[in-house]
Amino acid sequence: SRCPLNLNKIEFESEKQKRAVEDLVQEFTVTPKLLIDIKNNFKEAMNKGLAKDGQTIAMIPSYVVGRLDGTEVGSYLALDVGGTNLRVVSVHLEGSGHITTHQTKYKIDESLKVGEAKALFDFIAVCVDSFLDEHSIRVRGDTEFELGFTFSFPVLQTSINRGTLISWTKGFNAAGMVGKDPVAFLQDAFNRRHLPVRVAALVNDTVGTLLAHAYNHPDTVMGVILGTGCNGAYVEEIPKIGKWTGERNAETMIINMEFGAFDKERSVLPLTMFDNRLDRLSVNAGKQLFEKMIAGMYLGEIARGVLVNLIDRRLLFGGQISPELNQMWTFETAYMSTIEADSTPTLSSTRDILESTLSFTHTSLVDRQIVKCVVELIGKRAARLSASALSAVLEHTGSWKQKSSIGIDGSLFEHYPSFDSDIMDGLVEVFGDEVRKNVSIGLAQDGSGVGAALCALLATKYSAGK
Ligand code: BGC
Ligand code: MG
Repeated sequence: SRCPLNLNKIEFESEKQKRAVEDLVQEFTVTPKLLIDIKNNFKEAMNKGLAKDGQTIAMIPSYVVGRLDGTEVGSYLALDVGGTNLRVVSVHLEGSGHITTHQTKYKIDESLKVGEAKALFDFIAVCVDSFLDEHSIRVRGDTEFELGFTFSFPVLQTSINRGTLISWTKGFNAAGMVGKDPVAFLQDAFNRRHLPVRVAALVNDTVGTLLAHAYNHPDTVMGVILGTGCNGAYVEEIPKIGKWTGERNAETMIINMEFGAFDKERSVLPLTMFDNRLDRLSVNAGKQLFEKMIAGMYLGEIARGVLVNLIDRRLLFGGQISPELNQMWTFETAYMSTIEADSTPTLSSTRDILESTLSFTHTSLVDRQIVKCVVELIGKRAARLSASALSAVLEHTGSWKQKSSIGIDGSLFEHYPSFDSDIMDGLVEVFGDEVRKNVSIGLAQDGSGVGAALCALLATKYSAGK
């Protein structure tokens, strides 16, 4: 019961209002043809990135070549920077596939995200320090803890624990970091506090997600994040990585695609005026256009843009705005999940959000139906664009033809109703029904924590730099 189907049920107040909504449906719908066009374009971009550095989709070799089979034992720390919260996790691999974790979340102040990089890393070291105390992990003596550092930004890796930051994303913009090694910043901050912690591995969250999912699903071919940001990693055959000049003693390597940067050229994405406006006002204008149409950090703001525009045209809420909705970033993506899930006849949870949270004094049923429709259009578009990217990888690797698993982590995928089935419907449009039997899409449990620890283990057990 998607918005386009529901339109007939809405008793629009005017022809003009009805036409405005129909126009939005037009603008935000990713038709099956467009989905396939984007998939094809995406595949080309993947090939370009595999051939050469500096392409739109960076296709970064992760230096992760080893495989884990669940028998490993050991304790590691993991640090997750780049989502909504900073997390420190202690991970215990108990063998026989069993893993226990303890974690603490810390909030990164907005001012740290856009301040000096050194201050940001000092804060991170403080969090790790207090985590060690809180969990009584620190032991006196010379025990050094191995840490897997999930740093979820585009980093061009030069070894398993070295790399340079290509650019910031997701609202981070700390000064003095682009072109530098985040591991050096982190290790320096640890050393300044005399923390007995060594950064053993630098991991993108998608790579961690792939590893974590593969631990329990050996046929995992891809790790994906659909959360604050979006991106994917997959297993590639080393001979197909044309730009790879490192060792070739393994057959495959995980590639961090950095697909949020897709179509910087604006050649295929159906960008609307709302997307363009959001991009212009973001801290990384002109970058991560694909991410800005898909990821949780942005969907609410796109919806807000559409709603404000309808209000300005006197086609919603009688033309009245609320002070809350008049501010950027106030329409949270989490509201969208609630509104999508609202199946009450009067749309009462939608009303709660609009009237209680966003302080609209009165909303009509038609207002709420239009809001729901807008939300559904934007959510469905995000899921279908994700399907384009996933199907490009499945076609590139041929894995849609055999039993394979895709592990997806992130708040958007976890909480947004029907995101998973919308993605699968998109895959079926590309490959036909067969793909339903072959490819299973599942929630990957804590890729950033467990995955980073697994990567630290790989790095220490099988020696870095392979
Ligand atoms: C980053 C990626 C990351 C993704 C999901 C993007 O903004 O560039 O490195 O994997 O967000 O967290
Ligand atoms: Mg995360």
